[in-house]
Amino acid sequence: MRTPEHPGVHVRAPGKINLALRVGAREPSGYHPLATVFQAVSLSEDVVARPAEGLSLTVEGRGCDLVPVDGTNLALRAAELLRTVTGTTAGAALQVTKHVPVAGGMAGGSADAAAALLACDQLWGTGLDRRELVELGAELGADVPFALTGLTAVGAGHGDVLTSAMSRGTYHWVLALQDEGLSTPRVFAAFDDLLEDEPPAPEVDEGLLAALLAGDPHELARHLVNDLTDAAVDLMPALDDVLAASARAGALGTVLSGSGPTVAALALDAEHAASVAEVLRRAEVAAEVLVVTAPAPGARVLEPVRAPL
Ligand code: ATP
Repeated sequence: MRTPEHPGVHVRAPGKINLALRVGAREPSGYHPLATVFQAVSLSEDVVARPAEGLSLTVEGRGCDLVPVDGTNLALRAAELLRTVTGTTAGAALQVTKHVPVAGGMAGGSADAAAALLACDQLWGTGLDRRELVELGAELGADVPFALTGLTAVGAGHGDVLTSAMSRGTYHWVLALQDEGLSTPRVFAAFDDLLEDEPPAPEVDEGLLAALLAGDPHELARHLVNDLTDAAVDLMPALDDVLAASARAGALGTVLSGSGPTVAALALDAEHAASVAEVLRRAEVAAEVLVVTAPAPGARVLEPVRAPL
């Protein structure tokens, strides 16, 4: 009797926002030292890996036209890396469904890589543990380890050296998304150009970590910071209007996520978030306004994929 084919593995991995992003001076390697606090949000990526000969990829959902489907795609690179490291010859057809905006400063590509690693590991039975997956993820990009671990974490080094942060309660964020993305290397180059004095070694403010520990959104709002804001606004001047409109919409605080252009506005609760979102939509400064909650879990396997009828 023929064994029924494996129906596939469905993994969901979260996008992130940065509650703080402190950036130091460019190193000779070209990288910048970072001190950041990541928070995973309920806007996430879905990857389904199905058995196949060789590796293939389809991408659908938000901004899919902007995503490469060749060997540079981070989900494909993740599957390829897992094959190389484990020596398996198994294949997979990857189906990526995007919800996180492309080049939005929310690490959607990294979430795809994290989800593809976990999905292929399950599909192929290669049995890597979380720590091994995180190490492989770091080879693919600085934000991949966080997409695997999720929740709230402090990132040092280039953002890839993670320590989990204690956080109480649920945070309600309003996200202002743009149609157009911002290239992370271009934003860092603009940061270098705008720099007048050597910045101090980056560190995360203890007050922000205390606010998370206490579950105090008012206090958290006071500590939101992103050193890339001026650089992102320099490249996309309309971002100034988004930041101003978010502040006017009555949010507790506003911050640019990563290298932008997504702007995150912190609300007190779900009801407040809905009202901030409504005001922001009427201000017509964003292509889309979404309400999300945080912290969200890291990459995880969902219910088994049903076999096609
Ligand atoms: P970063 O992680 O550098 O902050 P970001 O969050 O701003 O990036 P992403 O959407 O993660 O932006 O991707 C940045 C670029 O990576 C895209 O413009 C795209 O060309 C490329 N890319 C490769 N693979 C993917 C993928 N699976 N999904 C989205 N973008 C991808």
